[in-house]
Amino acid sequence: MASSSPRVDSTPQLPDYVPVPEAAFGPALNEQGYFVSRVERNLFWVTDGTCQSAFLATPDGVVLFDAPPTIGHNLRRAVDEVAAAEGIGNTVTHLVYSHHHAGAANLFGDDIVRIGHAETRRLLLRDNDATRPAPEVTFEDRCTLQVGGERVELAYHGPNHSPDNIYIHFPDHDALMLIDIVNSGWVPIYNLNLSEDVPGYIGAPDQAMAYPWKHYIGGHLGRLGTRDDLVLHHQYIADIVDSAHAALASGRSNPLLPQVRGERLGRGERLPRRRHRARRRAGHRQVHRRPGGRRRPRVHHQHDLHHPVDPSRPRHRLTGPPMTEGAAAWHPVLGAPTEVAV
Ligand SMILES: [Zn+2]
Repeated sequence: MASSSPRVDSTPQLPDYVPVPEAAFGPALNEQGYFVSRVERNLFWVTDGTCQSAFLATPDGVVLFDAPPTIGHNLRRAVDEVAAAEGIGNTVTHLVYSHHHAGAANLFGDDIVRIGHAETRRLLLRDNDATRPAPEVTFEDRCTLQVGGERVELAYHGPNHSPDNIYIHFPDHDALMLIDIVNSGWVPIYNLNLSEDVPGYIGAPDQAMAYPWKHYIGGHLGRLGTRDDLVLHHQYIADIVDSAHAALASGRSNPLLPQVRGERLGRGERLPRRRHRARRRAGHRQVHRRPGGRRRPRVHHQHDLHHPVDPSRPRHRLTGPPMTEGAAAWHPVLGAPTEVAV
């Protein structure tokens, strides 16, 4: 098959990319590079356009849900901003891990209660990463977190994107937080958002839809999701599954495949703040191939290679060992700030 495939540069041009629809973009970021807003009542969400976090601002303390490294110290600023506006304290008393990937949990010190799935603790103890201290409070199936009169339901429904990814339900805020499954307004990145359990990943939105909620906090990109976003995601994944079955049954390779393999991974057009970055980044195929042509070995826990940054200053790592070129290449596409890849 390969010998009869036409050369990439001699094939007709592929159709151009469809412009990114306006509905995919979220609100503008402030000068410091973040956006914080209310989900409902005292539940807030934060984005830097790449990752998302959330927090409950209660009279007894702030409960943080994930501390993504790309947002870094802007999480502190977002909490301070909201606490001042709401007239409550800004002390972060609890941190909930959605799973073991996000790596800036250390920014809030040791004097907080860290909560996560038992597998999250096991994996973080194994990884021994100073940016991701293991949770001390763990659960296996379900856990109700009550702080400052608010209630949060944590539940584990099996592996999906990672072995330990949990569902974080805010029943009194009409919200569900499920990270790295549905990228609201966008398709998943490669390997179905780097999922370790593909059937689990495919089934996760059904689990999510079984909860009552209106606001979906998906963990990436610039806006919150809706139930319609999950329906659309489901249709997209079902289309891929059906097409894959059809292709396997036909026994033929799609004639566009050689051209697609030669394509760069998008051009970042109409993506504010990423235009220059997209030009500098190597093409997808270059990133994932060794110079000799062999693919880079697949490794799990790619998110582990995140390092905290402080977006308000010239971007630099705050902690962690030097990031190797290979590690930088594995930074998930959604983030991949080249400033980290020093
Ligand atoms: Zn992850």
